[in-house]
Amino acid sequence: MIKAPPSEIERVVDKVISYAPDADMDLLWRAYDLVEHRHAGQMRATGEPYITHVVSVADILADLCMEPETIAAALLHDVVEDTDTSFEELGQQFGQEIASLVEGVTKLTKITRKGIKASHAENMRKLFLAMAENIRVVLIKLADRLHNMRTLWALPPEKQHRIATETLEIFTPLANRLGIWQIKWQLEDRALRALEPDIYEEISDQLTRRRREREAFVTNVIQTLRNRLEDEGIEVIDIKGRPKHIYSIYKKMRRKGVTFDEVYDVHAIRVLLRTMRDCYTALGIVHDLWNPIPGEFDDYVATPKENLYQSLHTAVRLPKVGSPLEVQIRTEEMHQVAEYGIAAHWRYKERRSRDETLEKKIAWLRQQLESHQEVDDAEEFLESVKEDVLPEQVYVFTPENDVIELPAGATPVDFGYRIHTEVGHRCRGAKVNGRMVALNTELNTTDRVEIVTAKEGGPSRDWLNPALGYVRTSRARSKVRQWFRRQERAENIAQGREVLDKELRRLGLNRESYDRVAALFGHGKVEDLLMAIGSGDINAQQITTRILEAEQDEEEKIEVPQAPPLTEPAGVTVMGVEDILTKVAKCCNPLPGDQVIGYITRGHGVTLHKDNCTNIRHLVAEDPERIIDVDWHEDSERVYAVMVRVLAYDRPGLVRDVSDVVLQQNVNMSAASAETSKKNNVAVVTATLEINSVRQLANILNKLSQLPNVFEVRREVA
Ligand code: MN
Repeated sequence: MIKAPPSEIERVVDKVISYAPDADMDLLWRAYDLVEHRHAGQMRATGEPYITHVVSVADILADLCMEPETIAAALLHDVVEDTDTSFEELGQQFGQEIASLVEGVTKLTKITRKGIKASHAENMRKLFLAMAENIRVVLIKLADRLHNMRTLWALPPEKQHRIATETLEIFTPLANRLGIWQIKWQLEDRALRALEPDIYEEISDQLTRRRREREAFVTNVIQTLRNRLEDEGIEVIDIKGRPKHIYSIYKKMRRKGVTFDEVYDVHAIRVLLRTMRDCYTALGIVHDLWNPIPGEFDDYVATPKENLYQSLHTAVRLPKVGSPLEVQIRTEEMHQVAEYGIAAHWRYKERRSRDETLEKKIAWLRQQLESHQEVDDAEEFLESVKEDVLPEQVYVFTPENDVIELPAGATPVDFGYRIHTEVGHRCRGAKVNGRMVALNTELNTTDRVEIVTAKEGGPSRDWLNPALGYVRTSRARSKVRQWFRRQERAENIAQGREVLDKELRRLGLNRESYDRVAALFGHGKVEDLLMAIGSGDINAQQITTRILEAEQDEEEKIEVPQAPPLTEPAGVTVMGVEDILTKVAKCCNPLPGDQVIGYITRGHGVTLHKDNCTNIRHLVAEDPERIIDVDWHEDSERVYAVMVRVLAYDRPGLVRDVSDVVLQQNVNMSAASAETSKKNNVAVVTATLEINSVRQLANILNKLSQLPNVFEVRREVA
């Protein structure tokens, strides 16, 4: 049995210890022991034992300072696919988190192997992101690809060509979108080397030959700048010549149709400073030292790139040589993001201080990556994963080549509902790979599915019968139920009214008590009470008991002084609602009676600021969506009416979709109207919602803005 030299894994473990000294290395050793055993006897095309591959993948991720869990998953990433090892076993030995990381990587591997021909790059990218509910899975996959690119030479030429092309089409754009520059440039250079070996060699030779001369030149420039910055009292963390990668030189030559010399003449340095203010000051100094080249200044600090990248860019002309110098100025923190992108989020060092802005940016980025209206939004995707808790998924294609993920066992009906609620409702038949099939046929990965719809009508009751197997996903099931519930609403309400009237008469009461009874059952609206009674959720006996109990309470009621609420700060209402998690901002520390403004944080409730606090003024300007009315406690109702206005390019089903969203959140809509302007076809849907929490409102606004054709959603403040 050939073993990998133990020094390799030791090197990786040492690396992890260097940034995670208090973490448990036993985890890594246990993972290593398992894979060493299971991959024993397997060889790579390079002739090395297979285990060298997984150790190298772990090493790449250790270079990104990933958490030990991710490193362990990297060691284990091929063990299920390539050996006789199950996810259950991994779960038992290493815990659920690691097992599910491995599972995610295995899924991506399978898809790359199977689906690549049936689809094209854009779909693959979508598929990767759709699946990456845990972005660490994609990070492992990128590291896996990087090591495979490093050992690409061992494969036959056609295979090299195919893999290199795939790398440029799928993996480098992915690394770019996630902002992981460290992996991106390495993948690009490796791919170029395989695809255009002559050009690669030529550029690489030139670089080597002229390195010394270049370095001397840049050192000079750096010294000049460093002296000047220090004279001005700016603390310099680092100034470095910025290496140019072969692929980027190649691309520039191609794009601008210029020679190597012309690209090479451009020198580049990077300046790392302590604060953002220092960056702007340094920019002024650079422009004072040398002449700025017009049109070359970019402020990615004020306006970050889509992948979170922040930096100041400028170019100046160096007087003696006349050649341009590109200057990037950034803080250390910005540099982290520039190098590691989204991976910075999982870096061990940052683990304990995950700041909210980064969280926010990541959420936003993911939304960007995943927002394709024909596919579910990210949150819904996560929900369906959680709800269905399925070990296996299938990936099928729409006629437009979009990849749709469904739980194993899903049917054309599930597929229809996943595409659009209306497609589900009106689904009457389905073609799989061009052939008509029964609607309860199970779909398989890479099936191409087309739904045949009726012009109108709704789902069949049979779809709700689990024995018939028409519906596998909870999403589809709830849509079908919802449809029937809505159909029967009028009927249920009429029935509920009859029952309630009868009970009220029995107690000597009349319809004037409707509101009170509704409140007793926690319904804001009488209609909902009637609905609940009509559908059998509330029975006649419960009505009588509840009313009588309430009357008794009234009689016995004596004045009890109200105990102060236990939560800090006491007595805050948010939009008239109490019991919302609130905390007081440390910056301005408002006290009861102060004019206050609330800021909705991600997952930590609402932060209260004084209305004149400079921080909140800043946030109001930056993120008005998250600002919310708060007040110190007054008597308030549990439900707060909020008027919401939705602006959209009119389309059939718009109002219905709006009410769908509201219904899904279990919110009452007490009034709604819709108007369409003939002039510009813009529909305005106005609805009054009975909201009981800020989170609920935020949720609804968010969901509404994701509906097709909707371009604005806002809360109307009276
Ligand atoms: Mn692998």
